[in-house]
Amino acid sequence: MISDETQTKKLPQGDTGTKTVFIKSYGCQMNVYDSQRMADKLSTAGYVETSEAEDADLVILNTCHIREKAAEKVYSELGRLRVARDERRRTGGDMQIAVAGCVAQAEGEEILRRAPAVDLVVGPQTYHRLPDLIARARQRTKPVDTEFPVEDKFAALPAPRREATLARGPSAFVTVQEGCDKFCTFCVVPYTRGAETSRSVAGIVAEVERLAAAGVREISLLGQNVNAYHGEGPDGRSWTLGMLLNRLARIEPVVRLRYTTSHPRDMDDSLIEAHRDLPALMPFLHLPVQSGSDRILDVMNRKHTSADYLRLIDRIRTARPDMAFSSDFIVGFPGETEEDFEATLRLIEAVSYVSAYSFKYSPRPGTPGARMGDQVEESVKARRLARLQALAEGQQRDFNQDRIGRTMDVLFDRKGKRPGQIAGRSPFLQAVQVEADETRIGTVASVEITAMGAWSLHGVLSDMPAREAVA
Ligand code: SF4
Repeated sequence: MISDETQTKKLPQGDTGTKTVFIKSYGCQMNVYDSQRMADKLSTAGYVETSEAEDADLVILNTCHIREKAAEKVYSELGRLRVARDERRRTGGDMQIAVAGCVAQAEGEEILRRAPAVDLVVGPQTYHRLPDLIARARQRTKPVDTEFPVEDKFAALPAPRREATLARGPSAFVTVQEGCDKFCTFCVVPYTRGAETSRSVAGIVAEVERLAAAGVREISLLGQNVNAYHGEGPDGRSWTLGMLLNRLARIEPVVRLRYTTSHPRDMDDSLIEAHRDLPALMPFLHLPVQSGSDRILDVMNRKHTSADYLRLIDRIRTARPDMAFSSDFIVGFPGETEEDFEATLRLIEAVSYVSAYSFKYSPRPGTPGARMGDQVEESVKARRLARLQALAEGQQRDFNQDRIGRTMDVLFDRKGKRPGQIAGRSPFLQAVQVEADETRIGTVASVEITAMGAWSLHGVLSDMPAREAVA
């Protein structure tokens, strides 16, 4: 799932050091999590976060390679940072500039050549070494560390800080799996993040217990291919994601569990049974299908057909009847005909999604898709994308409209748009606003949905238990 460019939150200035760091996250939730863990690691070296790049002794761009022209955007941001750094130098200060994330992994030394203001480059698997890299950069060595090391990055990171966890709110991400072995022909992840690896169950349980003790009530497990999880369990065997979720559901007072992003091929029996058995596992699943055409799915190397996918949706809905789905779609993949595209629309109609992320195909350097002939014209892609989005938005509107008059559990996680309002998320990740006291932030309450706005649902607190009302 792609999120907007996100800036890490300003944290309470409780640390003892005097140096400041500004971290800008691009791309997915895994990058947001990585940025938080970088901040945790840097706090051990005396850094506190600041919300303005211009005020920072250290600026880290935690980059994403998924979007088109990702590297170019990073270079133009680096140009702005060079100006800010020069300004600080004029007034007697300084600024170190670091590039992290997937663009760092993909471009490596090239970044130093094109942007000499950069002091260090660090890939997604080695950011636990940041304090050492920063020290080396001060000696003007400009380190580039894009290894896939054998040491366990997560074991080398400190536990999440309690005060930072509190500031980040009642929902937290925990990366449990990284990398991907699927090699879809449009995707750079297997090249930038490497082969699939999974954290141990013990390490994940310890992190979730700490987050729960600090007030977190919702945990979203993250992985590029999260349901391929195969971490070492306490019994020495390889555990599946379903087994891991069963273990995490026993940690109180966590009340909500989610996971993303999944591949249809890796939805095994234990995971489907977890949806049946665990009330804490939310009835919402992002399950990308990309296309409804078997021919295009084959060229994409997705390793499943549209019928396989629809059968899977049926099995999950049988296990958990109120299950709602979202998906990613790519339109205009090389060779996609009008007939292929119509098959995608038919699949969307068959599933009925509550949200969808759709993109025009654009070649990613180094992927097989970029070398394929038969690229689809931009105007054709644009027309198909508009049709697909109109269909998906209609389904989303219908689903939201259908919530009116029902009661749902909402986890309140922030102040609302207006004074006196608070906001949160439904089990299906819909934004919900109610008039209520801020002391309810961090708790779950039943809300009767009364209206649908442009960006969120509106409701009133209810005494009625949510499950009865959503029958
Ligand atoms: S499953 Fe495919 S799209 Fe997802 S990360 Fe792996 S290669 Fe990329």
